[in-house]
Amino acid sequence: MKVALIAHDRKKDLMIQLCTAYKAILEEHVLFATGTTGTRIMEATGLNVHRFKSGPLGGDQQIGAMISENQMDLVIFLRDPLAAMPHEPDVTALIRLSDVYEIPLATNIGTAEVLLRGLDAGFVDWREFYNSEGSIDFG
Ligand code: PGA
Repeated sequence: MKVALIAHDRKKDLMIQLCTAYKAILEEHVLFATGTTGTRIMEATGLNVHRFKSGPLGGDQQIGAMISENQMDLVIFLRDPLAAMPHEPDVTALIRLSDVYEIPLATNIGTAEVLLRGLDAGFVDWREFYNSEGSIDFG
């Protein structure tokens, strides 16, 4: 499965803790991240992460584009609800696209743990039924 990892600055330490705790699960999957988050994860855990641009420079939009192409299966986005972001529209767009394409999305650590355990238990395997052309019928 393809997993996106994004953390705002005040949530990056928490993301490192999450990735450290769940390294055994995460290393079974293909990982993507915004620039700084990805660098921090790789340095701290040794996990292999495909990095996009930093969030404020378009990284959120790049991950959103993957979602719209049916190329992302799960998103963990530890957003900071207490800080104004210059790229707030991109943050909103990424969350919106996850909902448009019914991609499992966690925006806090509590849900993130449930999703990662669910991923490991096979609860996200339904994603494999969707082909790479994004042939979901939204009516
Ligand atoms: P960053 O981007 O990982 O490059 O810090 C995250 C964000 O702010 O969306």
